Amino acid sequence: MSLRKDCPGCGRTQLTRPFLLESQPVVLNYRFASPAESEAVPRRDIQLVQCRSCGLVFNANFDDSVIPYDANYENRQCFSPAFQNHLQHLATSLNHRYALRGKRILEVGCGKGDFLKGLCKLTGARGVGYDTTFEGDPGSPRSQVEFHRRYATAADITKPYHLLICRHVVEHVGPIGAFLKELHALAAAAGDPVVVLETPLFEWIVQNHCLWDVFYEHCNYFPRTSLAYLCRNAGFKVVAHRAVFGGQYQVLELRLARRKVALKLPGIPTAGALSTFAKSASADRRRMLATLQKQSLQGSWAIWGAGAKGVALVHLLPENPPQFVIDSNAAKQGCVIAGSAVPIIGPTDPRLHSVPAILIANPNYTAEISKSLHELAYTGRTFSFQA
Ligand SMILES: [Zn+2]
Repeated sequence: MSLRKDCPGCGRTQLTRPFLLESQPVVLNYRFASPAESEAVPRRDIQLVQCRSCGLVFNANFDDSVIPYDANYENRQCFSPAFQNHLQHLATSLNHRYALRGKRILEVGCGKGDFLKGLCKLTGARGVGYDTTFEGDPGSPRSQVEFHRRYATAADITKPYHLLICRHVVEHVGPIGAFLKELHALAAAAGDPVVVLETPLFEWIVQNHCLWDVFYEHCNYFPRTSLAYLCRNAGFKVVAHRAVFGGQYQVLELRLARRKVALKLPGIPTAGALSTFAKSASADRRRMLATLQKQSLQGSWAIWGAGAKGVALVHLLPENPPQFVIDSNAAKQGCVIAGSAVPIIGPTDPRLHSVPAILIANPNYTAEISKSLHELAYTGRTFSFQA
């Protein structure tokens, strides 16, 4: 496959040179029942480039048809108290500002529906969610929350909504410019609700040298000014835009723009430049391997967190894989890490005590993981690769 030559956000063709991550598994957030099944996952090169006009970072080698977004796609993070806090805070603040009791909420890309269910329970609102990876009870038009296992189109929207939520979707969508226009059409059909977007913030990845936050499922990485520009370009106005979850994510609140205004292209922001990230990547990887070596952790370490960051770490360090990955999501325990034979175990598995050191994949979870390990009477140490 040849590399994409135009920006999927703004359509312009002035792109930076690519940053290559070779032969990565095309899906990390997926339940594989056996090592054979997991090791057979297709691999592709990731070729990140940045658009010099709008600042979008994207994988120019992306092909969404190789990613299985079905019921075995498993990316719930709701088992972590820190993540629960983040969701709770988002739900409470939306309710505080938009008084959602009795109102209607639409969620596009709702995953297994946990956030929508929680939000409706908290606020007394009614919810309708769409996602191809949804599993469980879909409810009915008479229940408080109702789910559809497919993509939503503007033709599906026959009633007005007060809120349209789209969390952790835009980083997965190849044709992002077209998608934001579709989202605009959905919002128009829904009677101009507040549209809430949440997605990782590229500046955090650059600042933290977080190489393990780049993976195939995420075809787009948004510097702040880039996402705001692309939303405005799709016909939205940006009502609010803030960094959340320790700066890892950004949340935008959008409404339909009443009139078209001439937009200035943001270009590449200094703090969100792919070239800065790429320049230190090799040294960052060597530093990670050196840390393992210095601590004499040849194959005798583990990672806490089988989310995308933890799985990406396994693939970043093929020379020195961990013995296992620990995760509190029961749906993942007993499975193996995508593209490897590394098993996923639960925190109470006795194997936990066989490793002298455990790496914390995401710094936001340090406090709760340390607390769990203390309660489990784990006598080893924890460490992190955070720059
Ligand atoms: Zn662009």
